Amino acid sequence: MSIKIEKLTHVYMPGTPFEKKALDDINLEIVEGQFVALIGHTGSGKSTLVQHLNGLLKPTSGSIIIDGSNISVGKVKLSNVRKKVGLVFQYPEYQLFEETVEKDISFGPQKLGLDEAAVSERVKRAMEIVGLDYEKYKDKSPFELSGGQKRRVAIAGVVAMEPKVLILDEPTAGLDPKGRDEILHQIKNLHKEYGMTIILVSHSMEDVAKLADRILVMHEGKVILDGRPSEVFREIELLESVGLAVPQVTYLIRELRKKGFSISEEIFTTEQALDVLLKILK
Ligand code: ADP
Repeated sequence: MSIKIEKLTHVYMPGTPFEKKALDDINLEIVEGQFVALIGHTGSGKSTLVQHLNGLLKPTSGSIIIDGSNISVGKVKLSNVRKKVGLVFQYPEYQLFEETVEKDISFGPQKLGLDEAAVSERVKRAMEIVGLDYEKYKDKSPFELSGGQKRRVAIAGVVAMEPKVLILDEPTAGLDPKGRDEILHQIKNLHKEYGMTIILVSHSMEDVAKLADRILVMHEGKVILDGRPSEVFREIELLESVGLAVPQVTYLIRELRKKGFSISEEIFTTEQALDVLLKILK
């Protein structure tokens, strides 16, 4: 299972005064099992890019090749693509519509043509993965739930399709810190325990530093940086020039390294930094 993006360009409303090139010659390969973060300022093209990966948008030019088949050409059945690549939109809870949590999460698996027992299994598993107790929540209306719980129901709906690749577009937007940490923890779990390939769109460097093995930085429709977190965060000036900041502790670690302390560059969280500082002070 791999995703190859070749020479992908996308132009919105071509030939009109509103014409906008949102993606400009993107070339990428994402291999099975990676945890990729896609980061960039608003308007840099992140959402446009991920919507190409499950066939929601068609390239203006270039191709998307999933598992060896080019999904940018007419014949491909998009329902087959969506079995492989699940996309959780921004604010996905706005798309909840059924009377109960169970019915909502069942919607996708039912469309896959599974029998009732298999659908029910998938709903239970998906609810467990997102941390919602099946018995307690299955008959509730999604509209009775808190913001964080609604978000989890919406994510469970995509997880229940059991895609190999799960794309989440700003899954923590608008949640309080507790809700945010819970969702991020569950995403990490999906990657670790279930081996899903994850593509996480985010604008929080702190969040992605903790989770991703690879960070893609977008700016004006192009990928301007692609590498491990430590490689990407080395480019502080470039990131700042496109309106992004590195995790706060990166500045501290950089200064300490400049002063000759031998500290790993792979330190992105305050907890890790504290450990290192305590060791230095000993
Ligand atoms: P991001 O997800 O990084 O915020 P988007 O992919 O949403 O970026 O947008 C990239 C560019 O394309 C922006 O300039 C945006 O205004 C434009 N754009 C996005 N969606 C549309 C659309 N449906 N019609 C026209 N322009 C769009």
